[in-house]
Amino acid sequence: MQLPRVRLEEQRGRAGTGPLTTDVVVVGGGPAGAFAATMLARGGARVVLLDRDAFPRPKLCGDTLNPGGVALLRTVGLAGPVERHGLALDGMLVTGTSGVSIRGTYGDGLVGRAWSRHHLDLHLVEAAAQAGVDVRTGVRAQAPAVDRDGRVTGVRVRQASGATEVVSARWTIAADGRRSTLALALGLIAHPARPRRWAIGTYAEGVEGLGRFGEMHVRAGHYIGVAPGEAGLANVCLVTASRDQMGDPAARLWRALRDDPLLRGRVARARQVAPVITLGPLAVDAHAVGVPGLLLAGDAAGFVDPMTGDGLHIALRGGGLAAAALLDTSLREDADLLTRLRLDRRAAFGAKLRFNRALRSLVSWPMGVRLGAVGAAVAPSLLRHLIATAGDVTHSTPGASAA
Ligand SMILES: Cc1cc2nc3c(=O)[nH]c(=O)nc-3n(C[C@H](O)[C@H](O)[C@H](O)COP(=O)(O)OP(=O)(O)OC[C@H]3O[C@@H](n4cnc5c(N)ncnc54)[C@H](O)[C@@H]3O)c2cc1C
Repeated sequence: MQLPRVRLEEQRGRAGTGPLTTDVVVVGGGPAGAFAATMLARGGARVVLLDRDAFPRPKLCGDTLNPGGVALLRTVGLAGPVERHGLALDGMLVTGTSGVSIRGTYGDGLVGRAWSRHHLDLHLVEAAAQAGVDVRTGVRAQAPAVDRDGRVTGVRVRQASGATEVVSARWTIAADGRRSTLALALGLIAHPARPRRWAIGTYAEGVEGLGRFGEMHVRAGHYIGVAPGEAGLANVCLVTASRDQMGDPAARLWRALRDDPLLRGRVARARQVAPVITLGPLAVDAHAVGVPGLLLAGDAAGFVDPMTGDGLHIALRGGGLAAAALLDTSLREDADLLTRLRLDRRAAFGAKLRFNRALRSLVSWPMGVRLGAVGAAVAPSLLRHLIATAGDVTHSTPGASAA
């Protein structure tokens, strides 16, 4: 399925027309940046959205939007294509060593949606362009522009042609992902020494036994994610703590799949249909939500681990919070704005991020999944609670997203 791209092409054609001054420049057209830009433009701000890549572009991800993320898009009228084209997922299947298997549903008829980032990100960038955002692709942010008082006044960028310029803005939103150029330059984020994990992923046809569940298979030293996707394809991904054999990531991924006692039969006839993508280290810690003139959003504001499957929802919501903070203060150079965003993010994500970190530790401990299975057998409500928390179902309306 290809979405109409006319508007985006028109916007692209305007790239490189000279120095720019705007209300807000958003760097990064992933879910956080595109969502923030859309909300700001709908609120009346002049917004420029920059990305180094043209859309659609490949993106390593499990491609699953949890029920909370679907609900958020629905509240702003952006869920239509996701719900029409995304595969409905009822919950998560987690397996451990020794045959332990835990299957939990989101409950109340709620579903997540598996829709490739190729489509999702294009849809969100198209929505931004339709809201009036000036979308410019093939533009790479190099560094924040900073005035003599230390306030960020925009961003220095390099066009695809090699030309450089400064895009000046009252506010900058850094939504440029886990390796955010802007956040790193300002010393706002770091990749922690521990845990260090890397991901290798691709799409495959012929994976058997796919159902309406995202799957996570936890093994000693690594885990494997399998998610059903469009046209019967499977999204397969290995997350590992070791960088051994990263020279040939495809071989590494397929060895993990074919050596796995539970998966080997299911992938016996599978065939890789897309290039392998590798990423890492995965975790990002942020020690602030921004600096005067610049706010962080999405993975650039911190990332725990893919296993909880809520990165997309957190990215969208974080983009929305940054946009709301700017609109509510009329884009003023308000000293309290950073405090407000910090409190808003703590209220929205504080408990969730503590849960995610606890889950990351539990799963890195092989006995943890075994104990989880015992706990789930003894108290199924515990499992239900865990899956519901990972799916952010408290942000969803029961039954509203049933397939
Ligand atoms: C292996 C893996 C599997 C995952 N699976 C899931 C899942 O199933 N469900 C889920 O909810 N989450 C998942 N996540 C998390 C999810 O992918 C992220 O949380 C999400 O992509 C964050 O969105 P974002 O907009 O912050 O950043 P991104 O999606 O990374 O977007 C950042 C954008 O910034 C652009 N950019 C970067 N640098 C520059 C620059 N210097 N100049 C201009 N543009 C720049 C990039 O091109 C990109 O378009 C997974 C993550 C990993 C690593």
